[in-house]
Amino acid sequence: MIDYAHLNPAQRRAVFHIDGPVLVLAGAGSGKTRVITYRIAYLIEQGVSPSEILALSFTNKAANEMRERVLDLVGPLATSATLSTFHALGLRFLKEEYASVGLSKKFTILDEGDQLAAIRDLMKDAGYDVDQYDPRTIQGLISHYKSRLERPDPKRGGFDGVAAHISPLYGRRLRAMNAVDFDDLIAMPVWVLEKDKEIGYRWSGRYRHIMVDEYQDTNLSQLRLLKALAKRYNHVCAVGDDDQSIYGWRGAEAGNILRFDQHFAGADRIDLTQNYRSTNRILKAANRLILNNSERHDKSLWSDLGEGEALRYYEAPDGDQEASWVATDLSGCKRRDAVSWSDFAILYRTNAQSRLLEDAVRRLDIPYRIVGGTRFYDRKEVRDLLAYLRAISNPWDETALRRIINFPARGIGDQSIQKIANRAQEKGVPFFRLIQDPNKVPGLTEGVRSSVRAFNELLEHYRAQFSTSGSNLGMICRELTGKIDFRNVFTRTDRNPKRVAQRMDNLEEVSVALDSFRQREPDGKLEDYLTQLTLNPNRDEDEDEQENLVSLMTLHGSKGLEFKYVYMVGVEEGFMPHLQMPGRGSGADLPVDVSEERRLVYVGITRAQQLLTLTGARKRLRFGRTKARKPSRFLFEIPEELFQGDRSGTVPELSGDALQEKGRNAFAEMLDLVSRE
Ligand code: ATP
Ligand code: MG
Repeated sequence: MIDYAHLNPAQRRAVFHIDGPVLVLAGAGSGKTRVITYRIAYLIEQGVSPSEILALSFTNKAANEMRERVLDLVGPLATSATLSTFHALGLRFLKEEYASVGLSKKFTILDEGDQLAAIRDLMKDAGYDVDQYDPRTIQGLISHYKSRLERPDPKRGGFDGVAAHISPLYGRRLRAMNAVDFDDLIAMPVWVLEKDKEIGYRWSGRYRHIMVDEYQDTNLSQLRLLKALAKRYNHVCAVGDDDQSIYGWRGAEAGNILRFDQHFAGADRIDLTQNYRSTNRILKAANRLILNNSERHDKSLWSDLGEGEALRYYEAPDGDQEASWVATDLSGCKRRDAVSWSDFAILYRTNAQSRLLEDAVRRLDIPYRIVGGTRFYDRKEVRDLLAYLRAISNPWDETALRRIINFPARGIGDQSIQKIANRAQEKGVPFFRLIQDPNKVPGLTEGVRSSVRAFNELLEHYRAQFSTSGSNLGMICRELTGKIDFRNVFTRTDRNPKRVAQRMDNLEEVSVALDSFRQREPDGKLEDYLTQLTLNPNRDEDEDEQENLVSLMTLHGSKGLEFKYVYMVGVEEGFMPHLQMPGRGSGADLPVDVSEERRLVYVGITRAQQLLTLTGARKRLRFGRTKARKPSRFLFEIPEELFQGDRSGTVPELSGDALQEKGRNAFAEMLDLVSRE
């Protein structure tokens, strides 16, 4: 028997409302996700077959978590309910209905690199100048239109005209390859469901009850899919919060949630107003901030968790000190309240910001994980660049050499590399000796030999640069990054300019790390920097399976989650709102949507249960120069009286007796750190 006493009356109404469409449009932490979980359980308890239940979440992780909670509530019966993402559902559809779209059973899903290559080839075949019309832009346009289930208009000319011409050719090419792309996973099912009466009828009877979490972030094609699936029974329950719509840049339509009743006739609406997550101070901060957005559905949230601790704002002299302060304060907090590492989250706006924070928590031996992403030093581009640095600093590092000898591709294939390695073994000489003198390796073609020579010259050149005394490590690293032409490698394989910009940001962050290393140690050499990295290595892999870890993630990645203690870092203009640097990826020409940035900050604030700490830096190293930074405009939209002291950013304190002890511990920790180094 499920105990519905764990729900308030409004939540119960939403759970028991299983006839016809219903929308729960409510603020953060009001129990929307909980409603979906209980609703699935209730339906099963009412005798609905679990196989007729579909719940759609935003990420696989969210879907899995929901599955676990439902299993807790109703037991193994729940396993046959479908809990998935839109894309996974689309894939499931195509696996069954492949024939209806002309695919054969074992179709493949094209990755973005293949997709771009196909489009480039088609453009060349059709006689377009790919320098004039960047294939990536065309790829982006084709994807954009597909996700809106529209076709580019040939009459519009320019890029749209090219896309209109290439789009059907690309479709044909995919079909010839028995392949689909990511957008097809939604677009094709919609197309079939809307056109094919028999299939449409069959599928609209398959899921008698459909639930959607984070409804504010659905796009047009997802809405159409949903409508097609719900056509027969119209039992749809959507939950969401227009104030948390943060994927507009990816085509999500916040209008979907505000116009729910137009899409699902006869829809009821249920408001949830009690927030069960956060103290009132945190809630007030969020409420006041979001009031600055217009065109929103006005909601008021209250909490009976008391006023709670004051918010804190700390402004550090620079990014390094900001990160160190956060790490030290966090361990102090953990001791003060005797809580777990997993009660803490550090949130930032851009992926590249994680580097400073990861360095800082690692220095204090704080176990952490990166949620929804990869640890900075595990990111592929970072490892590639570090491999260059290692190979330059230490020619004996064969692993590094072999990682980069043909990256980017220089025509030195695996077989050639094997020949070099075998020869080195036979002769008992280090691998790099043969790189310096490829003539000594039998069986290499002249082409390969000259590529190896060029590769060696590149390394030698930078080896000399880095070892010149007083050289500017960060600048040389930047130059090297340009020389390797990572940007070209990324853009060839990735159609998403935002992601390319992110990866470039990560590379820049390595140079910034070298800059700040140099500031700390004016005589430090490249090898000293690399040694420090290995002295603070990534914690063992198996820690990812461990539960008790501090979570680091972007604001986007934090959606739906909650933590007792939240640190939101980089609360500065430039990060919040996030401004793309001019000339850095084509994202630069996208205007910033300040309202969406504000919603993102709103999402961040509302993750916090007990203590919210905001931090920023007065200056940061960017592109080898120190740049002054200003606090984020959003900071000033939060009433000052909610903060400890004021908002001036002086070192805030943890309240309580534990403070002194905290000071002592932090000091001891620093001593410990010094003695370990
Ligand atoms: P978000 O907008 O951030 O996704 P949400 O509206 O989905 O938030 P939930 O995550 O479902 O909110 O709930 C927030 C917290 O409040 C969770 O810890 C949940 O267990 C708790 N909660 C929700 N409803 C109740 C209730 N009636 N009684 C006690 N705790 C509740
Ligand atoms: Mg939720």
